[in-house]
Amino acid sequence: MTNSAIMNTYARYPLTLVRGRGCRVQDDSGNEYLDFISGIAVNTLGHAHPAIQQAITEQAKEILHCSNLFHIPAQEALAKRLAGLSGLSKVFFCNSGAEANEAAIKLARRYFYLKGSTRRTVITAKQSFHGRLLSTLAATGQEKVKIGFDPLPTGFHHVALNAYIELDQAIDEHTAAIMLEPIQGEGGIHVASHNYLQMVRALCDEHGILFILDEVQTGVGRCGTMFAHEQAGIKPDVLTLGKGLGGGMPIACMIANEATENTLSPGTHGSTFGGNPMVCRAALAVLDVIESENLLHNVHVQGAYFSHGLTAIAEAHDEFLDVRGQGLLLGLGSTVAVAAFISQCRDDGLLVLPAGSHVVRFLPPLNVTEADIDEALMIIKQAAIKVFS
Ligand SMILES: *Cc1c(COP(=O)(O)O)cnc(C)c1O
Repeated sequence: MTNSAIMNTYARYPLTLVRGRGCRVQDDSGNEYLDFISGIAVNTLGHAHPAIQQAITEQAKEILHCSNLFHIPAQEALAKRLAGLSGLSKVFFCNSGAEANEAAIKLARRYFYLKGSTRRTVITAKQSFHGRLLSTLAATGQEKVKIGFDPLPTGFHHVALNAYIELDQAIDEHTAAIMLEPIQGEGGIHVASHNYLQMVRALCDEHGILFILDEVQTGVGRCGTMFAHEQAGIKPDVLTLGKGLGGGMPIACMIANEATENTLSPGTHGSTFGGNPMVCRAALAVLDVIESENLLHNVHVQGAYFSHGLTAIAEAHDEFLDVRGQGLLLGLGSTVAVAAFISQCRDDGLLVLPAGSHVVRFLPPLNVTEADIDEALMIIKQAAIKVFS
């Protein structure tokens, strides 16, 4: 598409997807693919789920948008559900993961400003990814995304993930918050250990600073619990969600605990589209179906099954290192660049994506079946033989 009028910010696959059902999609020539990308962890319930269809068609007949100048019942209901599920207190709605993280950074700074404290800086992890806004680029622990965009907002420090002593030493009188992904998605499926997350929680309590968890990719059931941090038995002070929350509708949010819930007030933050009736109805449908179809259990079972199958394939090829991740956020680490392997999978009917240059990432919808995974494993196995022998 050399004559495209679309700005060239994505190296696109040579495919045009025109319809989908469950975890299958069809291109404009009628070829079918197993979709283990799910719009990068967005299509939580797969494609064309009737509950989402019903929610958004019903809402479209009533009112799409009315501005946050008015009360929005669906937004109120969704906020209550999310507060209940997270054990946190109040929700700010926005449109993307980066915006949710920007809101969290603003909240952390203003929280200490209101306390009369000079704490303003945020510590994040190396190889993290927090979004493409200037603030979230600054927060991101990868240099490659920042090149040419300086001056970036200041006040961010990066430490190695799972290195407790380095983190402990990085905290000073200016530190306002520590922000982490429970599993680094874009950065290569690096898991923060439960022990590390527990120690970070204790460290934040000890210093009276905020613990922000970016669950934009790991949240909403992706890792087998509603939020990945539950598995470490901890709670953050501030939680961000995005990607899978709306099952394909653009909605994201920041959830704050009781101590921080009143930090942002009228005039300090906002979003024109954030949490409009349409996107909130979709998100409510997603949460309903995760419950009614017992999808957390499915993620747990299918995630373990898939991981087991991937491990067997990894053991058969020197080019594969390991299987990483949790639930249905899985990665296959490689000693070589994975682009050729990914395009072979695509040619053979399976859509997967990279996480960095050397990790294949798998993000099937949460309602994927064992039969779908068997089919995917068969394609992965064949593709590995074709590419690596
Ligand atoms: C994708 C992602 C973001 C950015 O979300 P956008 O909706 O693209 O702004 C932020 N944090 C994490 C962990 C992500 O995976």
